[in-house]
Amino acid sequence: MEVVGFLCLAAAILAWGFVWLWDSWERMKSQEPAGVPGDGSRTLLVIAHPDDEAMFFAPTVLGLARLRHRLSLLCFSAGNYYNQGEVRKKELLQSCDVLGIPSSSIMIIDNRDFPDDPDVQWDTERVASILLQHIDANGINLVVTFDAGGVSGHCNHVALYAAVRTLHSEGKLPNGCSVLTLQSVNVLRKYISLLDLPFSLLHTRDVLFVLTSKEVAQAKRAMSCHRSQLLWFRRLYVLFSRYMRINSLHFL
Ligand SMILES: [Zn+2]
Repeated sequence: MEVVGFLCLAAAILAWGFVWLWDSWERMKSQEPAGVPGDGSRTLLVIAHPDDEAMFFAPTVLGLARLRHRLSLLCFSAGNYYNQGEVRKKELLQSCDVLGIPSSSIMIIDNRDFPDDPDVQWDTERVASILLQHIDANGINLVVTFDAGGVSGHCNHVALYAAVRTLHSEGKLPNGCSVLTLQSVNVLRKYISLLDLPFSLLHTRDVLFVLTSKEVAQAKRAMSCHRSQLLWFRRLYVLFSRYMRINSLHFL
């Protein structure tokens, strides 16, 4: 009898979990994320290196396209760590073309102040000043960038968060301009692909983008444009990373 009782309880918990997940999933699919500006929003994705847009932000880029945002991209380096900057700039344009960002909406900063280097701290004030000029000049409503963990912990990613955080906390962003940061998850969650969905549904406070299989193929095509970066471990990344399928974001 005890065994039957235990099995009934386990079945009830499983059923409840399944219904909860299904309900969360349906709500997520049917609603525009609360707080995200609507149709026609001028949205700026801020990245540190060519490939960040495909490797980490593809679900956000394609999710915002569904919401008909006018997306532009600001990349703070040419990704010149191995002296491949010129090649990588071209790869970025090709990847953005696959993701639906026109080249006229892309700005790549190729400046000695912001080297692609995990050991160099970019000056927060310098990054913030350039970012603010770009936001003002383009009438940006929504800025999207990394969070304090920078997904991979790369200090160039974290520098972008520090700059946007400074602009936000000092009240320097124009009225009506909000900021979304991409949630960094632990290494276990990072590499379980779509199996991370229950955790993402549970832990996402603000915005969750999950790609359809057709969109995942598009994200992979964008990633394959970064030919200079496709070493064996990045091919594994493309297969297993949840960031190729799921992005959870929080408002500042
Ligand atoms: Zn990067």
